[in-house]
Amino acid sequence: MPLIVQKYGGTSVADAEKIKHVARRAIAAKDKGSDVVVVISAMGDSTDDLIALAHQITDHPDEREMDILLSTGEIVSSTLLSMAIKSLGQKAISLTGAQAGIQTDRVYSQARIRSISPQRVQSELKAGNIVVVAGFQGVTEDMEVTTLGRGGSDTTAVALAVSLKADACEIYTDVEGVFTADPRIVPEARRIPEIDYEEMVELATYGAKVMHPRAVEIAQIHNLPILVACSFNDKPGTVIRGGIPMEVRNKARGIAHDLNVAKVTIRGVPDKPGIAATIFEPLAAANISVDTIVQNSSVDGLADLTFTVTRNDLNKAMKVVEPIAKSIGATSCISDAKLGKVSIVGTGMQNTPGYAARMFRALYEAGINIELITTSEIRITCIVNETKVADAVRSLHKAFQLDQE
Ligand code: ADP
Ligand code: ASP
Ligand code: MG
Repeated sequence: MPLIVQKYGGTSVADAEKIKHVARRAIAAKDKGSDVVVVISAMGDSTDDLIALAHQITDHPDEREMDILLSTGEIVSSTLLSMAIKSLGQKAISLTGAQAGIQTDRVYSQARIRSISPQRVQSELKAGNIVVVAGFQGVTEDMEVTTLGRGGSDTTAVALAVSLKADACEIYTDVEGVFTADPRIVPEARRIPEIDYEEMVELATYGAKVMHPRAVEIAQIHNLPILVACSFNDKPGTVIRGGIPMEVRNKARGIAHDLNVAKVTIRGVPDKPGIAATIFEPLAAANISVDTIVQNSSVDGLADLTFTVTRNDLNKAMKVVEPIAKSIGATSCISDAKLGKVSIVGTGMQNTPGYAARMFRALYEAGINIELITTSEIRITCIVNETKVADAVRSLHKAFQLDQE
């Protein structure tokens, strides 16, 4: 029998009625003759609510306790969905990440799936159940509960689909697929019917929340196509897959934005070998991922070094960097947490001149100051003040004519 893995996000299970709706969709898929595994997110904003609650208790919640706390959101929705399916007369069972055999490393709040033991899920399918798996969570070798990073239920779904050798992996959300920009910011944004893994990884990594970047990476490694579509209708959505010929791709595929950006600047860094390693090795050891790094050329043997981290990592990064800055004799160490990123992405940009200039002109004409710039082969990112991000996205969408076929 074919096997489908479906994933429903938080807004799709925000209340009892919506959970019943998802139950009907899962049963419809089963009735069409497939085995069905449903991966589910926490209801509505309940993950945010749990985080806020923890912060009412303490400014620095223990990371281990935090992961167990957050994992409960998905457990709540999985049990309710299983009840809803059963009340409609179809066999179902809910499983936590641990019960579904999802084993991770021990990096709390950002754990990576190491392996999946699919036997339990398989035996429950064999018994005729729709298997409802709580997304976003796993367990270490020694049974410590971990979570996979915000938006990580997508990753649960894709990893399970790979491990179960599913015939289809469908991600259902509150928009009708992947768009040329966030449709909440750009009403003229268009649905992209098909997108290559490469471009989707880049869009997701740089803020297009509709897919978790790890999920796309896993799908790419295993060449598993993913359908992203709306849980409230049957419109066609977006297929993420490999092998889309370069020449039929738009030059700029889409715009991503991300408001979760902070920068750290170390002023007056002595310009000599080994300094960058002295700064960045301890950041890596503290599990802080650094994105953009810019060092200007030195004047009188002193340079300024700027790098960006996510806002949540800023305090941790400052704690690591301040003593180092002192020890190497830097003049000062300052931070700014009110930044955002806006990126244009497209494989068609490779080896095609003029994209950067067009992007900078569009931002200039919108009166937006660029603080930092980074690029990859298929992406150009500008870091701007957070208040300018939405305007930047809209002007770039227009400048690159993404509202047109
Ligand atoms: P879910 O709860 O279903 O996982 P998310 O909120 O994580 O849903 O992701 C869906 C949201 O992603 C949309 O509501 C939309 O605002 C946002 N989004 C950002 N960029 C894009 C894009 N390029 N295409 C579609 N949606 C996007
Ligand atoms: N509930 C988690 C979050 O809000 C995971 C997810 O929805 O994918 O980030
Ligand atoms: Mg999501």
